[in-house]
Amino acid sequence: MVFEKEPGPGRHQSSHNSGVLHCGLYYQPGSLKARLAVDGIRSMIGFCRQHDIPHEVCGKVVVASDERERRFLDDLAGRGAANGLQGLAFLDQAALRRREPFVRAAASLLVPEEGIVDYQAVMNTLATLIMNRGGSIFYGSRVTGQKSAHGAEGAVVATLLGEYPVDLMVCCAGLHADRLYRQCTGLRPPLRIVPFRGEYRMLRPEAEKMVNHLVYPVPDPQYPFLGVHFTRLVHGGREIGPNAVLALKREGYRKSDISLPDTIDALAYPGFLRFVSKNLRFTAGEFASSLSDQAFLGKARKMIPEISLDQLVPGTAGVRAQAVAADGSLVMDFRILRHGSQIHVLNAPSPGATASLAIAAHIVDHYIE
Ligand SMILES: Cc1cc2nc3c(=O)[nH]c(=O)nc-3n(C[C@H](O)[C@H](O)[C@H](O)COP(=O)(O)OP(=O)(O)OC[C@H]3O[C@@H](n4cnc5c(N)ncnc54)[C@H](O)[C@@H]3O)c2cc1C
Repeated sequence: MVFEKEPGPGRHQSSHNSGVLHCGLYYQPGSLKARLAVDGIRSMIGFCRQHDIPHEVCGKVVVASDERERRFLDDLAGRGAANGLQGLAFLDQAALRRREPFVRAAASLLVPEEGIVDYQAVMNTLATLIMNRGGSIFYGSRVTGQKSAHGAEGAVVATLLGEYPVDLMVCCAGLHADRLYRQCTGLRPPLRIVPFRGEYRMLRPEAEKMVNHLVYPVPDPQYPFLGVHFTRLVHGGREIGPNAVLALKREGYRKSDISLPDTIDALAYPGFLRFVSKNLRFTAGEFASSLSDQAFLGKARKMIPEISLDQLVPGTAGVRAQAVAADGSLVMDFRILRHGSQIHVLNAPSPGATASLAIAAHIVDHYIE
């Protein structure tokens, strides 16, 4: 049985993302993210092929804009190789120009295994498979807690539609993961979800020729965010973004979305205030790119200097569920906890969509006897 509070599948992060298949370039070798991204992209591409889901392994170029970033790019290539990625190659200027004629780079790395996909189609297919195999999906059924919090033998899931006895609960509540943990276990969550809105712009059709595939900057290794990048969408169009702006509402997709309870919740968490105080420059820079088109453009121009404001139009936005620890650090790795008959996916940020099938297999193998 699947309980989903919204009227359909994937109304939040899983359909408000870049639609990129990530293959594990960035992540600490040996981490859960590294393992599950590498396994995940292979399972996801296999699943897409099997079910005719629109996707394309078009490859990605990661661009270093100066000498400092060139050193980070060398480190990334090392990480990627350690994580088992195939075909990584530094491009010389001629090769870069053939692939992405408008991109300017001090150095660039080709990651040929990455691609693009329609994640909404992935979720629709999963929903159909669940129904066809005798499962049930209850939309509009917000889970409010569980009745036998201390019992290791099964649980009773309390939802807005009624109560359902189950052997085991697997909670994947994204932006509400910490709240559902508290509601179901009665315990204080070991981390807190902080929402970071990611805003996109689109390239006007006449400017789409400036991007052929995926073009990413070298990310700041301190943060789990990959930086404003260019994405060819699987159904056409070119997207630029996302930035990473601290949001005042967990499911707030517009700048004007503010939730008083969410804001009070965030301000009352020492980890949130510690994060902000330690990362003032980053936080202010991302806010600036939300408020000023010029600041947003500046991030894009690092890779494609010819892009101008009149070539951009407003795009969509997504909100990342990013776990923050009490000391203010961003939790980099996936975090999954078992408590009696409950399993909680507490932190599944990017590349959580790519890795989703591998995360499911990992839960079955490691948490369910
Ligand atoms: C801007 C952005 C860009 C990204 N880009 C990429 C990318 O290119 N590639 C990639 O692999 N990953 C990307 N990610 C990350 C990826 O989207 C997430 O890791 C993934 O979607 C997380 O899936 P999830 O199921 O944990 O969360 P979600 O998709 O948010 O799903 C959680 C679900 O739980 C439901 N829910 C919450 N509380 C309750 C409750 N009490 N009762 C019932 N239902 C509840 C919600 O309605 C929601 O449907 C991106 C994320 C963002 C925001």
